[in-house]
Amino acid sequence: MNKEILKNIKVLYVEDENDVREFTGKTIKAIVKEIIIAADGKEGLEKFNEHLDVDLIVTDINMPKMGGLEMCAQIKQINPAIPIVITSAHNDPNFLKKAIDVGVSAYAMKPIDLYQLIESMIKAVEPVFLRKQLEEVNLSLEEKVEEGIQKIKSILDAQDNIIFVNSSNIITNVNKKFLEFFGTNSLEEFLNNVSCVSKLFKNERGFFSLETLKNSDKNWIEYLQNLNEVDRVVKITNKDGKDRVFTVNIDDYEQGQHFVISLTDITELKEKSNLLEYQASHDLLTGLFNRQKFHEIFGKEIRRDKRYQNDLSLILFDIDNFKKFNDEFGHNMGDEVLKFIAEVVTRSVREHDTVVRWGGEEFLVLLPETNIDGAMKVAEKIRIAIQEFKSKKIPKQITASFGVTTLFEGDIEEEFIKKADIALYKAKKEGRNRVVSYTT
Ligand code: GH3
Ligand code: MG
Ligand code: MG
Repeated sequence: MNKEILKNIKVLYVEDENDVREFTGKTIKAIVKEIIIAADGKEGLEKFNEHLDVDLIVTDINMPKMGGLEMCAQIKQINPAIPIVITSAHNDPNFLKKAIDVGVSAYAMKPIDLYQLIESMIKAVEPVFLRKQLEEVNLSLEEKVEEGIQKIKSILDAQDNIIFVNSSNIITNVNKKFLEFFGTNSLEEFLNNVSCVSKLFKNERGFFSLETLKNSDKNWIEYLQNLNEVDRVVKITNKDGKDRVFTVNIDDYEQGQHFVISLTDITELKEKSNLLEYQASHDLLTGLFNRQKFHEIFGKEIRRDKRYQNDLSLILFDIDNFKKFNDEFGHNMGDEVLKFIAEVVTRSVREHDTVVRWGGEEFLVLLPETNIDGAMKVAEKIRIAIQEFKSKKIPKQITASFGVTTLFEGDIEEEFIKKADIALYKAKKEGRNRVVSYTT
C-alpha cells in the first residue's frame, strides 16, 4: 500500500474520548496533509460543512449528541463519494451491516492499532485518489490537445493562403483567410451553401474545373495532384464578385485519408505574366502581332498545311510615300495612320487570318486555307478600304501597295516572304496603290 497517498489528503477525525483523540489525532496529523478534529458526531458534521474539501473521514461510532454512523449518513448525503473509516470495538454482524449501508469503506478495531488504522485509511482513500488522479491526467491531456489545436489553428490563420483540411471530400477545417474570401462567418455557414470548394472552380479555358473531370475516373483531388504545377490553376469568384486566380497545392497525410489544400492567390502575377506575354507577341503601337509571333503562327500553319494539303497565302503591303507624309504632317500623325491601317485591315480579314506589323510601315497578312485568287481578292479589299478611309484626324488620303503570294511546295519562311516582297516591289514600281501577285 502506498503511504505517500496520505500526504496529499485532508482528514476529518471524529472521536469523543480525549486521550484517544489526542494520541490518534497526533499520529494521523503526522502522516496527512491536514487534519480537522471534532469531539462528537454533531461537531463532526458541522466541521465537514465548513471543510467540504475533506478527502477522508475517520470516525468513532459511539459518541454523545450524534453517533458516528448517523453523522456518516448525513455526510454521505452531501458527498456520496467520500471515503469513511470507522474505529470501533463493535464487530457484531448487525452493526457491520449498518456500517456497510451507510457506505463505510474500511474498518479499524479498537483499541486502535495504528498500523491497522493507517492501512484502512489508505485502503479507503486509494480508489478515490486514483480516480482523482486519472481525472487530472485526463483534464491535462484534454487541455494539451486543445492547446495543440489552438496552436495549429493560429498557424493556419496566420497564412496568407486560403487553406482547408479535407477528409474524404468533407471539409473539416478552414483558416481565417478562407472565411474572409467567401464572406462567411463559419465553416458551417459555408457548407450550408456549398458542398465542396471544387464546385466553385470556374469552368474557363486554361483553368481546372469539374468539367475537366468528365472523362476521368479520378476525383478532383487525385486529378489535381497528378497535374503539373503550372496546370494546377483554378479561378474562383470571391464574395465581392471578383475573379481571383489560384495555384492549388495538395498535401496528403494518413495514407491519403486527409488532405491539406492550400490555394495561393496569383491573380496579379498572372495579370503581369499575361501582360508580358502580350508585350512579347504584339506591336505596342497598333496592337497587331509582331514578327516574333508571326514566326510562331507560321510554324504551326505550315505544319497544318503539310498535313492537310491546304492552301496558305500571304499578303505583304507597304504604305505609299509614307516618308513624305511624315515630313509633311509629323511623326505623331504618321503613328495615327499606322493605327488606323491596323483597324482597317483587321476589319477586312477573317478571324483566323493573322495580321502582323512586319516593320515600320509594312504589314503582313497570313491567310490559311486561301489560294492565290482568294488572297488577291482580300488584298484588293484592303487596298480599297485604305484608299477610301476618311477621317477628320487624317489630313490626307493614304494608299498602300500589295504583294501577294501563295505557298509553294518546299517553301520555307524566308522564301515565302521574299516572294511576297518581290511582288510588292513590283507594285511600287508599277505606280503604287495596287495589288500584284508573285509570278515566277
Ligand atoms: P514607298 O512608297 O516607296 O514605300 O515610300 P515610303 O516613303 O513609304 O518609303 P520609305 O521606305 O522611304 O520610308 C518609310 C517611312 O516610314 C520612313 C519612316 O519615317 C516611316 N515610318 C516607319 N515606321 C514608322 C512609325 O512607327 N511611325 C511613323 N510615324 N513613321 C514610320
Ligand atoms: Mg465512544
Ligand atoms: Mg512605304
